[in-house]
Amino acid sequence: MKMLVDLHTHTISSGHAYSTISENALAASRKGLQLLGMTDHGPSMLGAPSLYHFGNLAIMPEELYGVRILPGVEANIISHEGELDLPINYLTRMKLVLAGLHVQCYPGGTIEQNTQAYIKAMENPFTDMMVHPGRPEFELDLEKIAYMSAQLQVPVEINNSSLAAGKKETQENCHRFASYMAKYKGPIIIGSDAHFWDRVGVFDRSLQLVEDAGILEDQILNISPQRVLDYLQDRRRRRFTTI
Ligand SMILES: [Zn+2]
Ligand SMILES: [Zn+2]
Repeated sequence: MKMLVDLHTHTISSGHAYSTISENALAASRKGLQLLGMTDHGPSMLGAPSLYHFGNLAIMPEELYGVRILPGVEANIISHEGELDLPINYLTRMKLVLAGLHVQCYPGGTIEQNTQAYIKAMENPFTDMMVHPGRPEFELDLEKIAYMSAQLQVPVEINNSSLAAGKKETQENCHRFASYMAKYKGPIIIGSDAHFWDRVGVFDRSLQLVEDAGILEDQILNISPQRVLDYLQDRRRRRFTTI
């Protein structure tokens, strides 16, 4: 399976990532990727960029080294109601909005509260995709999330960095989640979650898991740039019918 898109990467702007957008784009270009998401952490994370960063993304070139860039955010879910840490007038300007749970940004809670927060963020018409449900910090009802992903047609990530980190609990969560995604047939993205340029486009663990779990190629959004761009366009169109 040839992946042409990485939708989840961080630059030096995130505060704990170490490459520039130019370095990430060059790495993407050398790997044959055609579309790259620049998704630095939302402002409530320690060391993450301020609102000014997100307000100025329009100056980014459309393309670097022949790779189309989607400037966006990996927003933090900050409450049990699934609120995100970027105001709506900023979210509307992002070309790509990922959302996920992160330590220090989300207060924590019971499995029901965590799952509700995650699903409410998924239902938010300004969220495009959900990330790393397999991380062990906050317990989630992974079957419910897979079911809702199929219902809402919002992609959820199989995160390569989570798998590569090698924690037993994370591995088990990711395997369980992948089997639920195979069962309910919701859309997925495979993201590198690169925090350094050499990780951009690295999908080996996620691809192996997708194959082992029996997830269909049709379910994987970021196989082709066109599939991603069509989805994003449709998601933006649907915003006006859901708010
Ligand atoms: Zn990070
Ligand atoms: Zn994250």
